[in-house]
Amino acid sequence: MPMDAAGIHYTERAVALCRDLVACPGVSGDEGATARVLADAMRRMGFDSLHVDRYGNVIGRIHGTGAGPCVLLDGHMDTVPVPDPAVWNRQPFGGEIVDGKLYGRGASDMKGALACMVSAAALFAAETERKFNGSLCVAGTVHEECFEGIACREISAAIRPDYVIIGEASELNLKTGQRGRAEIVLQTFGKPAHSANPDAGANAVIMMIHLLERVEAFAPPTHPVLGQGITVVTDIVSSPYPGSSVVPARCRATCDRRLLVGEIQEDVLRPFQTAIAELSGQFADFHATASIARGEAQCYTGQSIEAERFYPAWLFDENEPFVQAALAWLRAAGLDPAVSHYSFCTNGSHYAGEAGIPTLGFGPSLERLAHTVDEYIEIDQISRGVAGYAAIVGGLLCQR
Ligand SMILES: [Zn+2]
Repeated sequence: MPMDAAGIHYTERAVALCRDLVACPGVSGDEGATARVLADAMRRMGFDSLHVDRYGNVIGRIHGTGAGPCVLLDGHMDTVPVPDPAVWNRQPFGGEIVDGKLYGRGASDMKGALACMVSAAALFAAETERKFNGSLCVAGTVHEECFEGIACREISAAIRPDYVIIGEASELNLKTGQRGRAEIVLQTFGKPAHSANPDAGANAVIMMIHLLERVEAFAPPTHPVLGQGITVVTDIVSSPYPGSSVVPARCRATCDRRLLVGEIQEDVLRPFQTAIAELSGQFADFHATASIARGEAQCYTGQSIEAERFYPAWLFDENEPFVQAALAWLRAAGLDPAVSHYSFCTNGSHYAGEAGIPTLGFGPSLERLAHTVDEYIEIDQISRGVAGYAAIVGGLLCQR
């Protein structure tokens, strides 16, 4: 790995930045400190321009001397919380390095990848002396952990990337897609009555039981690569709650549905609506609705972010020229990537699923380390992550 003008290895730059980022606790909606550290690092490492948008996404850009595509490296800044620091054997925000592993919340998911991206961009700019065609952007995004891809709509509208690399952990393998995710809200509406006289009312919980029995029997759609579009009930609550001597008048449940490529909201809601229509024919009092959940959250900038919880699936064919080219560039850099898809939902739901931009996943560290106690990233993964990002960016911006 080469050194920068100050004689510091790009791996060391990335490791130091990863530690600085880990030192900033920052759950979704509270990424302000992380954003400042990231922006400072971009400024120090020679990015040409910096922009923080209304949601608080940080976007740094390096311009080449020629005209060409815009390549975006995307990593989310938010992390999941640390509910109980006492069960950690390492400081959750300490960034301790022990036996070649850097520990801390977000080290693997995904401040390590963000640090690699910034360092790789600086390395690429130095090695090419900016004699490349197009521009390279690195974005630190907000609100990924439960609002996948929504904040990214702002980024793609602002910079219109031609290629996107998602840095979620892939153990330096190449990911060409993922299932999407939707949350469906089911509501049943009954009639309140004293529970000593239940026949005077209509019990919304019993209605929900009938409806969920149907949902459990749904045959999931399948995709030859991505697998099943499963439906799972994730919560349920009746009203009034707790109910004392009352027939509940309302019940609400949420289902998580994993989406396959091409599925739109109407497709996803249809079986729920069919079940509701059938039950309405069967029971005189039955009344229910199914809809896509809406989410709202606050950004650290004070802006609120709001959207339907519907994050589409995406998948590119392994034989697409840009996929094969990325493989070749990574191999030339000494990496040995396999091609597969993510098992979880990422910001790619926006870039590829909504906007149709050629997108790949490539990130250091193991997927299974995300959200764990004693989360860590291996220094070796950081080192090879920097090399991998530089290789992909070099391929995309220096061809022709
Ligand atoms: Zn992540």
